[in-house]
Amino acid sequence: MRLVEKGVLIVISGPSGVGKGTVRASIFEQENHNLEYSISMTTRKPRVGEVHGVDYFFVEKEEFLDRIDQGQLLEWAEFVGNYYGTPLDYVKQKLDEGKDVVLEIEVQGALQVKNVMPDACFIFIAPPSMEELRNRIMTRGTEAMEVINKRMQKAESEIGLAHEYDYIVINDTVENARDRIMAIIEAEHSRSNRVLEYYNKNIVEVE
Ligand code: 5GP
Repeated sequence: MRLVEKGVLIVISGPSGVGKGTVRASIFEQENHNLEYSISMTTRKPRVGEVHGVDYFFVEKEEFLDRIDQGQLLEWAEFVGNYYGTPLDYVKQKLDEGKDVVLEIEVQGALQVKNVMPDACFIFIAPPSMEELRNRIMTRGTEAMEVINKRMQKAESEIGLAHEYDYIVINDTVENARDRIMAIIEAEHSRSNRVLEYYNKNIVEVE
């Protein structure tokens, strides 16, 4: 028998276009990490190249609302006309296995997680400037001007809530942002409340 420390829930937010996905991919490319990515459910239509079960679980609105009713989502939010949510069972299972679980979600959902799991680690990825953010959203080129403007407005309101997070990481370069986040995750494991909880035997036993 060995004793397994419960995993840490890592919640990453940031305005769309800030490069969260790229930073996350770079983190998962590192060797020797102990991370699992929680794939969200959404009613948004897939973008070119997105794959069901890899990028998102793409579902109809009716199914999404059913999941909410059945209490199967850890959190959910409506974002620019679509629903997004985190399947609860997967997160619970991986944390119990001792894996650190990464959620990449918008701010309203993150605040819900903060209510139910306050010991999660909350990281906000911010752009070097708003001009840079607009450039990044425009050069992605997948969306109409109206959607781009909505996402910019949303970005401003999200940045206004960055103080709710434990850490703010500026994505000046992908490598810098990745390294800072890896360092934060490492440090989270030495947080006094986590270590003391572990010593107090509030831990999971596996064969
Ligand atoms: P996108 O449409 O660009 O993929 O995502 C739009 C926003 O929804 C992003 O900020 C993304 O992080 C967020 N998002 C993705 N999955 C979830 C989720 O499960 N819950 C919440 N609350 N937001 C999510």
